Amino acid sequence: MICDNISVNSKGHLTFAGFDTVELAEKYGTPLYLMDENKIREHVRTYKNAMAEYLPEGSIPEFASKAFSCKQIYRIMAEEGIDIDTVSCGEIFTAVQADFPMEGCFFHGNNKTDADIRFAMENKVGFFVADNGEELLAINKIAGELGIKQNVLLRVTPGIDPHTHKKISTGSVESKFGVAIETGQAKELTEKLLRLENINLKGFHCHIGSQIFESEPFITASKIMLEFIADIKASFGFVSEILNLGGGFGVRYTEADPVINYAEKIREVADALNKLCGELNLTCPKIHMEPGRSLVADAGMTLYTVGSVKEIKGYKNYVSIDGGMADNPRYTLYESPYTVITASKADQKADFVATVAGRCCESGDLIQEDVALAKPDRGDILAVLTTGAYNYSMASNYNRIARPPVVMLKDGADYIAVKRETLADVCGLDI
Ligand SMILES: *Cc1c(COP(=O)(O)O)cnc(C)c1O
Repeated sequence: MICDNISVNSKGHLTFAGFDTVELAEKYGTPLYLMDENKIREHVRTYKNAMAEYLPEGSIPEFASKAFSCKQIYRIMAEEGIDIDTVSCGEIFTAVQADFPMEGCFFHGNNKTDADIRFAMENKVGFFVADNGEELLAINKIAGELGIKQNVLLRVTPGIDPHTHKKISTGSVESKFGVAIETGQAKELTEKLLRLENINLKGFHCHIGSQIFESEPFITASKIMLEFIADIKASFGFVSEILNLGGGFGVRYTEADPVINYAEKIREVADALNKLCGELNLTCPKIHMEPGRSLVADAGMTLYTVGSVKEIKGYKNYVSIDGGMADNPRYTLYESPYTVITASKADQKADFVATVAGRCCESGDLIQEDVALAKPDRGDILAVLTTGAYNYSMASNYNRIARPPVVMLKDGADYIAVKRETLADVCGLDI
C-alpha cells in the first residue's frame, strides 16, 4: 500500500491505522475524515529530531497549519514541542483556544490588515513573517501603540522555480508573496526596516513551493538566502539569527510519487548549509522549516458511501459519492492526483475504470477521473487516501452541504476531534 498505516483485513475491508474503515463508516456515517494521530506524531518527530541532530541549536519545524487547522492539531503540536504557522485571525484564535504557547506562533500572509496585526499582537503571536513595506510600517505603528517590540522575519523571494532543478528561473520573483532579492528591493526594505524602532528583525524567510521530493531546490534556496544574509551583514552589520526555509517537502498521493525519507533530505540540506556558511564565513543561523502536508497528508483518509454507478456505454463510467468538492476541492482546483479504493471490497480486483464524482451541482465536481476500482454497488464504501492536508481545511458549505467530522485514531482508540456540522449549523448565521 501507498503508506504503512493502510492494509486489508480478513473481511476484505480496507484498514487504516489498524481500524476497519467499513466499521468506522457505520459508526460515524459518511463522508468522514479520518486522521491517524500516531502517524502525525511520527512525522513531527522525524522532522524535529533530524533538525536537532543536523542543524544549529534552536532549529525547529513549524507546522504550516493551513494544511489542517483545528484545536486538536494545535494541542498535538504543543505536546510535541514544535512551532506553528498561521495565516489568519481564525487560525490564531483556534490556536489560542487550544492553549498553544503563542510565542511559538508565526503569522504569515501577504495582506495582513491593521485589525489582523492588532489581533495577533494582542494574542502574543511570537513572530510576524512580514511580506511588504506597508505591512512593516503598520506593524511598527501598532506595536508602538501597544508598547511592544515585535519580532519579525522578512519574507523574501529567492527567485527559484523548484521544479526546474538547477535552473534558477525568475518565475518566483513575480510571486505575490514577499520581496525580491534579485531586484534589490529586499535589501532596500531591510535597510528601512532596521530603522523601525518597534520592530525586532530576527531573520529572513523564503518558501519555494510544494510537492518537492529532492533536497536540491532547498539547497539552491539556502545558497541564495545565505549570500543575501552575508550581504546584509556586510552592508548593515545586521546578524540574522533565523533562516526559515519554508515548507514544501512532497507526499505520496499515488504510487507514481516517490517514497521520501525526510530525515535524509534534511541531512542533505544541513550538510550543504554548513558548507555554505563556512565558505561565506557566517555562523549558521537557526534553521526553521515549515512542513504542512508532509506532517499530516498521509495521516488522513476520507470515506464516502457510493450512491450510483453510471455506465455511459462507449464513453465513461461514473461512481457518485455522498461528498465531493465541498470536502475535497483539490481535484476541481488543480487536478490533484489521489488514490481511490473501494474500501468495502478492498480484496477484489480493481478492474472497473471510473470517474469518481461528487454530489455538488457542478460537472467539475470530481474527486478523480478514470481510476481503476473494484466495481462498487450502491452502499459500498469508497476511500480516498492521503487527504489529511488541504481537505478539511479547504472544505466549504457549497450547496449548503454540512461539513464532515474529523475522527482521530490513536493506539486502537477513536475519538471525534471535530464534530459533524448539522443543518442548524449550516444556517446558523442567517437572520
Ligand atoms: C503552504 C505553505 C507551507 C506548507 O507547504 P506544504 O507544501 O504543505 O509543506 C509552508 N510555508 C508557507 C509560507 C506556505 O505558504
